[in-house]
Amino acid sequence: MTTYTQPHLPYSTDALEPVIGVSTIEYHYGKHTRAYIDNLNNLIKDTEFENMDIEDVIKHSQGALFNNASQAWNHIFYFFSFAPDCGGKPEGELADAINRDFGSFEEFKKLFEETGVRLFGSGWVWLSCDDYGRLHITSGSNAANPLTQGLTPLLCFDLWEHAYYLDYQNRRAEHLHRLWDIIDWSIIGERYDG
Ligand code: MN
Repeated sequence: MTTYTQPHLPYSTDALEPVIGVSTIEYHYGKHTRAYIDNLNNLIKDTEFENMDIEDVIKHSQGALFNNASQAWNHIFYFFSFAPDCGGKPEGELADAINRDFGSFEEFKKLFEETGVRLFGSGWVWLSCDDYGRLHITSGSNAANPLTQGLTPLLCFDLWEHAYYLDYQNRRAEHLHRLWDIIDWSIIGERYDG
């Protein structure tokens, strides 16, 4: 059977300070994300899902299995979007698509943050593309993932309080606004070109 493992982050636990603090990395990636992966491995054991790619598990499961598979995938995707001292801009085809579909990079960021702030309770805000390369901002509760809507995820911000409470307490909007400073747009651009 497949056993999903947790990849080591390509940066140290203090590398994203002050946008995301050491304790948040230790709890959020070290404990929350770890638990979703452990739960996923336990839930697929001896089921039709045990040899599936995780993307297929996400597309074809419900309930606890969907929640843990999607949360495992979402968190790895989220944490592998960051690098220290970034805060740049998209380039190339992704930059062109953002300008075409949202007017400008600034307009895109504003709409993305607003969509994240508006979601009630826990969930995610996403930038994805469809089969025609058009960009979409979506949000969804709990373990939502645009793979279930036939979209290709490019970027996500975690809206669960565990993502920001240690550093920002209840200030979700401020947290989302600060995250741009650690987004590695070369990674997001590769996801779009891929
Ligand atoms: Mn989270």
